[in-house]
Amino acid sequence: MPAKSNSTSQTQGNNSGSFSLDDGSRIAVIGGGPAGSFFSYFILQVASRSGMHLVVDIYERRDFATFGPTGCNMCGGVVNESLVQALSVEGIDLPPEVVQRGIDSFFFHSEKESVALYAPFHQMRIATVYRGAGPRGANGLKWRSFDGYLLELATKSGANLIGERVTDLVMNEGRPRVETKDGLSQPYDLVVGAIGVNTPSLELFEKLGTGYERPATRKTCNLEFKLGSSFITGRLGNSMHAFLLDLPKLDFAAIIPKGDYVTMCLIGDKITNDFVDSFVRNPVVSTYLSDSGEHDAAACRCAPLASLGNAVRPFGDRVVLLGDCGMARLNKDGIGSAYRVAKVAAITALFRGVSAGDFGKGYWPVCRTIVADNRYGRLIFKVVDVIKKSRLLTRAVMRMAREEQRKAGRQRWMSMVLWDMFTGSSPYREVFMRCLHPAFWGRLLGHIGASMLPSRGPVSEPVRGQEDNMDTSSLGRDYRTGDVIVREGEIGDCMYVILSGQAEVMRSTDGEDVRLAVLGKGDIVGEMSIFQKERRSATVRALTDMRIMTVDRKIFLKRVHEDPSFVFPILQKMSQRIRDLNAELAQLKSG
Ligand SMILES: Cc1cc2nc3c(=O)[nH]c(=O)nc-3n(C[C@H](O)[C@H](O)[C@H](O)COP(=O)(O)OP(=O)(O)OC[C@H]3O[C@@H](n4cnc5c(N)ncnc54)[C@H](O)[C@@H]3O)c2cc1C
Repeated sequence: MPAKSNSTSQTQGNNSGSFSLDDGSRIAVIGGGPAGSFFSYFILQVASRSGMHLVVDIYERRDFATFGPTGCNMCGGVVNESLVQALSVEGIDLPPEVVQRGIDSFFFHSEKESVALYAPFHQMRIATVYRGAGPRGANGLKWRSFDGYLLELATKSGANLIGERVTDLVMNEGRPRVETKDGLSQPYDLVVGAIGVNTPSLELFEKLGTGYERPATRKTCNLEFKLGSSFITGRLGNSMHAFLLDLPKLDFAAIIPKGDYVTMCLIGDKITNDFVDSFVRNPVVSTYLSDSGEHDAAACRCAPLASLGNAVRPFGDRVVLLGDCGMARLNKDGIGSAYRVAKVAAITALFRGVSAGDFGKGYWPVCRTIVADNRYGRLIFKVVDVIKKSRLLTRAVMRMAREEQRKAGRQRWMSMVLWDMFTGSSPYREVFMRCLHPAFWGRLLGHIGASMLPSRGPVSEPVRGQEDNMDTSSLGRDYRTGDVIVREGEIGDCMYVILSGQAEVMRSTDGEDVRLAVLGKGDIVGEMSIFQKERRSATVRALTDMRIMTVDRKIFLKRVHEDPSFVFPILQKMSQRIRDLNAELAQLKSG
């Protein structure tokens, strides 16, 4: 059972009774975006494992089945590779109707050239999604909203959805009371703020007197262009396209391919209509919007604020703020940081308590690592800005990355820096440290020298064709019947989650292949080499056509370090295998 709050946290609280959650405790989650849904899902899952019943009410003003900005939490819609892998271990497999397109590569375009970087294992481990039902006017699309899908995971776990806007939040005898536009007024043991930064409701939390101050924000702009699936597949492929153009006012620009549409994401302080028009007409950009330079106007457009990182004191007695309004990664992977902080807040609330002291000890340490990492991020973005402004440096960076991609077996210094930086796959600190390595500098200086020589003219790279059997909305990698996924005796540094299909586990004994098990959807393969650095103990072969997600050891271990409960689904599978083995052993002995 969850522990009682300790005495220190009690004295830091407001003495209005116990700060621990018990059977029947009531939690209000305000905001049903990723942060609110992840929090609700994980607290209900973990509580149910502990035999505890909680009442979780999610207040969400949007209907995610509505097309256009009204039903959408307005973002680029890229679910990054660390999050896709982490979710597959958690048993959350993004379904094809939610994934607009699986992404396996990143193109960088400067004024004169482009370079392509491909994901490790050539797998679709980045997903593009719509946060709402889809762009304005896109009625009839078969896709489902990502936020709607997460919200459904939470409600299927037992959360109640209250489709209303929260208009007031007051402390009544030490307990929060939530009031809605339609006059609902309810008391709770804990209130969770997951309202993002695009809402006036932030002041409800600021006036509570816990010391909370909203994070700084900046302006952005998203546009959706309908280009048709075949143009997108041929011209953009399964690749994100980032533009390193020296345009005033622009910090980041990318085109993200989806089903029939692309999302153009622009970040900068003064993105006006005129700026957008000139950006879209830029020859480097317009190639990715049409063959002729002519294309329809954007079908949908929004100008949301982006969080610049961390709020001040995102917790108090019986109050915690998550996601963009509490703690987010700078410029990247906002959905991934919402998942991280939501899960740690849920575990803190359950196993420590809900006082300011409890959140300070359980929740804040993870937030602090994000705050510290964002400092490295700020530094790196300043360097990127300098590089974008210098043609020589941009050319040298592109040259170095391109050469690394062409020469197999080379240490990929620049490619890894660019990949991790733009996909948000690694902490900014790791990217920064990699840039300090003398070998990185040695190579870069060489390429700066070479870039001073007259160039051979524009260098561009074609997008790579898609494998025939690969559905554009599939994540992971396809295996055909008979393909070997893992070979006995090989050294492994990853494990596999089966997304669909069946595989057999074989081991050779005295020259004969013995079938040890048949595995199916949701099963995990090759996890032993993550825990023990040993050779694979068995061969795993596809019994049917299969789809599999590879999970890197590094990503897995990083998650376990931050959130030890991450290993729980694997322990569950391993304990089931031990049970099965015991049953077989008992049968052998008795027979
Ligand atoms: C231009 C842009 C592009 C981005 N691209 C990406 C990307 O590609 N990948 C990525 O990972 N991140 C991206 N982000 C960041 C990402 O959008 C956020 O980090 C993420 O949405 C945070 O989730 P959240 O749940 O904290 O907040 P939100 O997604 O903003 O959700 C908050 C929810 O609270 C609800 N709400 C607010 N007030 C109330 C109220 N009073 N009552 C009831 N409900 C309320 C809202 O309706 C909303 O559903 C981008 C951001 C911007 C601005």
